[in-house]
Formats: sequence, structure tokens, C-alpha cells
Amino acid sequence: MSRFLGKNAAALEPYTPGEQPRGQTFIKLNTNECPYPPSPMVEKALAEFESKNFRLYPDPEATVLRQNLGSHFGFTPDCVFVGNGSDEVIAFAFMAFFDRGDKVCFPDPSYGFYPVYADLYGLDARPVPLREDFSIGINDYNKLDGHTIIANPNAPTGIAMAREQIEKILQNNPDKLIMVDEAYVDFAEEVTCVPLIDQYENLLVIGTFSKSRSLAGMRLGYALGNRELIAALERIKYSFNPYNINTATQIAAGAATMDNAYLIKITGMVKTTRDRTALALREMGFTVLPSSTNFLFASHPGKSGKELYTYLRERRILVRHFSHPRTLEFARISIGTDQEMDLMIKALQEGFR
Ligand SMILES: *Cc1c(COP(=O)(O)O)cnc(C)c1O
Repeated sequence: MSRFLGKNAAALEPYTPGEQPRGQTFIKLNTNECPYPPSPMVEKALAEFESKNFRLYPDPEATVLRQNLGSHFGFTPDCVFVGNGSDEVIAFAFMAFFDRGDKVCFPDPSYGFYPVYADLYGLDARPVPLREDFSIGINDYNKLDGHTIIANPNAPTGIAMAREQIEKILQNNPDKLIMVDEAYVDFAEEVTCVPLIDQYENLLVIGTFSKSRSLAGMRLGYALGNRELIAALERIKYSFNPYNINTATQIAAGAATMDNAYLIKITGMVKTTRDRTALALREMGFTVLPSSTNFLFASHPGKSGKELYTYLRERRILVRHFSHPRTLEFARISIGTDQEMDLMIKALQEGFR
């Protein structure tokens, strides 16, 4: 490490992203990307864009994109914030709503970035352990110590909570901000908290185009909430990077937003493949948590998650395992195309019968 590194930076434990191997030699089921291309409207909109316009800065207000997102979800643009991936939206929310030393609550295990950001911004992390069956115990959220972020459906478990349960948390903690990270909500059934936004001023819903919209490479995340919450995020953005959404992303994501039929089509395909794959894995003796996402969290008796990962990697199939003590036996398998999943099932059948 550089001798110029500050003490704070030296003490951080950064997030580890999933591998992004070069070339096409792997079946890549490790970062929950969508196996299908984005909406054809994206390609069309980008083709119509003239690259000479890249000389200009992007629209700092992302006007068209926020209008499109607003009309998609039924809000005015001042209730919509956009960020460079939902990771940035979460970072801005942590900067906007916490002071150094404040308590932040989140389920454990959940998305690995929550503790990383807590650390980065000097917060007092209060992880709330999942129940024995890996679901979120709603009674553990009756009187929260601080503002809270909950992934729903949760990652890496894939388990979703009913909207009514989140509503209970909102009601029981009127003075705490509840941020619901809905990265996978388009693969779930009717659990989104967007319809609650008008009723609960302590609710911020966060979403991403990386999974269900097939635009991980474009980096677009968003937050929906009341005007005051959105204005708070804008304050941070204009104190950090006013041009956080590049021009190509504004165009691509704006076009993708308008193609709801395509979203329904590809998420439907992923869900069908997911359920079929879960069945096949269970037939082989795997434990598979009930998934409302585009991945499966699975374990096999007598094998660790690391061993599963290594076994598949040797067969050119990439999945993910985590070193969290609660989930050492599990591997997280993103849902690919039917053909990719068949190859994965076949590879497992050779060694896991
Ligand atoms: C993938 C993921 C994100 C981050 O998505 P980006 O928009 O690509 O930054 C956020 N939260 C959860 C739970 C995720 O799985």
C-alpha cells in the first residue's frame, strides 16, 4: 500500500465484485446479469444518437429519463432520483441521511455493499441476523435503532417479504427512514413498495436497470420517494458529481423505460427458467431457497459453497460463493438462458448424484 494512503482509507474493507472474465469461454452465472439483450428500443435510440454530441456535458437533471421513469411509476420527475448504478444511489442516500457515528440497520446476510458503505461513511453498523430459515424476521424490526436499508427480495438468499410486512416496519418506525432496495423486484410477485410512497414519508425505494432491464454495463440506478427525500439526494449529487449519468446512459435507459412489454417478456422467461432449474436441483438433493429473483441460492449436503464453485469453475461455469459464516455451504447461481442452465444441470448431475 502507498505510504500516502490515509488512515481512513487504509482501514476500509472494500466490496469484492464478481469476476468479469474476458472472452466467451465461461458460462457466466455469477453476477446476476440478464442473459437476454436489452429492449430493441435501446439499440434504436442509441443508433439515432450522433456521437458528435458527446462533446457536450450530459443533462445534469437527466430530464427526459426522469420524466420517463416518473410516468412509468406514476410520479412527477421531482419524486425520481437517478444515479450511476443503484450502488451510487445507496452511497448518496448514506451521505444524505446519516451523520458520522449514526446507527444504520440492515439484514445480515444481505447485499455486501451495505456494511462497506457503513464503514466508508463512519457509521455504526447494526446488522440484524436473518432467521434460521434465512427469511427476514419482521419482529426484529419493531423498534429500529437507526435508519434502515432492506433488500427486498433479499440477496443473496433470493427470499422476498410481502409488501404488508414492509408496511408494518414503516408503521412501527415512523421516525426512521426505511430504504427498500428493490434490485430484484421485477422477478418477484407484487412485492414492490412503490405503491406505498404517497402514504409513508419515511419510505425510499431504490431500483436498478442492471438486472431486469439488461443494462448492467450502462450503470443506472434510481430512487423513488417524496420530494423532500429526493431533494436531499440532489443536494449530495450537486456536492459530488452533477454529471453522474452520462449521455449514452440517459438515452439507453430512457428508451428501456418505455418498453414495459419487453420487461414483462424477459422477466417472465427468466422466472420460468429459474423455477425449472430449482426443481432440477432439488431432484439432485440440493437445498434451494425459495427465489423471487434471477438467481438461486443452493447448497448440497456434504459440499461447501466453495467446493461447488470450484467444481463448476473447472467445467467453465462461473457461479458465486460468499465467505459469510451463515451461508458457507451455499453457492449463488444466476439464471442464464435455458441452454446455459441445462449445461449447468448436466455438469452437476455428473458429480452430484
Ligand atoms: C446488483 C445489486 C445492486 C447494485 O446494482 P447496480 O445498479 O448495478 O449498482 C444493488 N442492490 C442489490 C441488492 C443488488 O443485488
